[in-house]
Formats: sequence, structure tokens, C-alpha cells
Amino acid sequence: MNESIPQLSFYDDPALDAAFAALLGEVDAGRKEVRSEEQLEAFRLHWVGRKQGRLKLISESWLKAAPPEARKSLGMRFNQLKQHVEEALVFAPRNLVRETPEQGDVLAYTPWEEKAKNEKRGLPLDISLPGTTRAPGIPHPLLKTMHEIVSVFHHLGYSTNLGPQVESDFYNFEALNFPPDHPARDTQDTLLIAAQQSRPSRDRLLMRTHTSPVQIRTMIEQKPPIRIVIPGKVHRNDAADATHSPIFHQVEGLCVDTNITFSDLKGTLDHAMKALFGSDVKTRFFPSFFPFTEPSADVQISCIFCGGKGCRKCKHSGWIELLGCGMVDPAVFAAVTEERRKIDPSDDAYNPEKITGFAFGMGVERIAMIQHGISDIGHFYSGDMRFLEQFA
Ligand SMILES: [Zn+2]
Repeated sequence: MNESIPQLSFYDDPALDAAFAALLGEVDAGRKEVRSEEQLEAFRLHWVGRKQGRLKLISESWLKAAPPEARKSLGMRFNQLKQHVEEALVFAPRNLVRETPEQGDVLAYTPWEEKAKNEKRGLPLDISLPGTTRAPGIPHPLLKTMHEIVSVFHHLGYSTNLGPQVESDFYNFEALNFPPDHPARDTQDTLLIAAQQSRPSRDRLLMRTHTSPVQIRTMIEQKPPIRIVIPGKVHRNDAADATHSPIFHQVEGLCVDTNITFSDLKGTLDHAMKALFGSDVKTRFFPSFFPFTEPSADVQISCIFCGGKGCRKCKHSGWIELLGCGMVDPAVFAAVTEERRKIDPSDDAYNPEKITGFAFGMGVERIAMIQHGISDIGHFYSGDMRFLEQFA
């Protein structure tokens, strides 16, 4: 039975606030007591029962008795109370503990303690209810392109080798046949590690300017045959602009065996370019120069945007320059042999009379920019989600 509603003596704001605060507290207290279906029904009748519900009684005795000027503020507070009661009726059933679950009961996505409680009661988990979604991660577009390049060569039987980014002058330059006055050695291009002046020049440390030192490291450790790809970061003292960055990525390749010829190199790279850019892509080779290969060549592919007809992207030539390559210079084999003979004086594994090899290197950024039509290299490093999400 509902106790009767006390009459209000005053209808000013402080009096109404106090009276309604007491009622809101009453609703909360009552809601917490609900532990069974019967109690829930009693709670419902107590507040919204058609004849004796407290809401009905309050509306009858207070609203009717209120002076006209107080009706608006009283009505506002009454509606708040009504809403609070309705919410309590929605949430109170969470307290219900049935001894045995009934059909239709589900374990919703609820706070941890309630979830544990419901699991104890053996309620099934409703997997159709929305959970917390977390966006899956994706490989960075550069990493994706690097993996694509590497996997083309994996399918040809190549394995992957890695090396340090802080290199010695010997591995980065000397063993690769860079003469002492070669411009790449210039401090304008190479980032040197500080305080190396007291060391012999071959031991001075620097940030590697290419992935080629890993060719030397591999050959010193391992006899032919060698077929490796070397993906990794390289560093140069370049000002950042739309096509340059002081840190960028290369994939290098090295193949050393008996009877390796320039046509093996051409065939391998032609296959790789077709695998990366599509089977109608053509390749052509131009004479070039690199200290560690002889002869050397630049490789161009037919423009993938215009199919070779000529467009803005290929500067109307129909061709895009993509990588450098060549036959391993005998001077490189000589440097490797000198190192290997420090361990075994009779070592002859890299005798250029018996073995030959080829090497190639490509910029990952350049290939990714062509693949995706990206005009500014800076997008790769900006961490802008609007850019990165396009690769998801
Ligand atoms: Zn073109």
C-alpha cells in the first residue's frame, strides 16, 4: 500500500527542489531492492500503478493544489521524476537473479562483474549484440611494397639477408670499390658518426648510404652459390622534398654462381618487373656506372600509366627509370677474397676466373609511388591516418 502523499506548504523553488530530491532518492532506493520478478512488479505498481501509484497521487494532489505561477516549475520537476521512474523500470531487471535461466534470457554485453554473474548462472552469450570494435592494423604501404618485391625474388629461390644501419667505411665504400675521392663519400652525402677521427679510415662508422654493404658481409661469410635479397633502411644527407628523404628504403639483390651472365640479369629483372607491374610491362637497359658493378646499367620499364605512348608521368618518353644493376666488379670479389684469406689463406671461393655474379638495387619509395600514384614522398612518413587508411 502506498503511504499518502504529504501536502506541500510552499511552492517556491527551494521547497520544490527538496520535495522532489526526496522522491528521486526514494526511486533509487526502491530500485536497488528489486531482486525478483514479484518485487519488480511491486516496484512498478508503487510508482506507476493506475489508481494508487505515487506518480498519479503526486500529480493529483500537488499539481492541482499548486498556485498558477508555480505550475510550470512543478510540472517540469514532475516530468523529471516520471522519466527517472521509467529509467529505473528499464534498469531494475538487471538485478533479477533467477535460479535457473529461462528461454529468452541472454547475457548481454555488460560490465565485467555482471558478466561474470550471468556466466555463473549459465546464461548463453549473445554474440549478435554489438561489442567493442577495434580497427585491425595494416602493414605500412612501404612495408607492403617491400614485401611484394622481396616475395617476387623468394619465388625465384632467393633468401633474405639483413645488415646493420650503422656501417663501417670498409663495408659501405672501400670493399665496394668506391675510390677515396668518390662523391658519395663526401660528407655532403654521407651521415658520419661523430668522433671517429682517431680510428683507421676503414673502421670509421657512418650511416649506411645503400644496402650494398650486406653483399660484402654475405660473401665474406658464405661461399657461392649466393642468391639473396637485402631489404632495409638507408640514410643520406639529402634535403627533404617531393622526391627525396634523408631516410629511405632499398631492396638490393645479389646472385653469385658459376656461369652467371648479363642475360641472366636481364631475364631476372624482366621477370621481376612483370611480376610487380603486370605482364605487359617491357624493360630496357641503358649503360650506366656504379663503382661495384662492371658493366653497369640503368633499367627502365615501359610507362605503366600510358602503356608507352607518352604522358606527363613519363615526361612523354614512354619509359620510367626504376633501378640500377650490373655484373659484380672483379675488384669487389678481390676485396672479399682478401678478407676471407685472413681466416683461410688458401681461400679461392671468389676467384673471378671461376665465378661471376650480378647485383641490382631499387628504391622502395619510388616503386610504391609509381604503384599507387603518390606524388609526394613525405606522405609515407607523415603518419597521417587519412593517407594510411587508403591502404587498409
Ligand atoms: Zn607515360
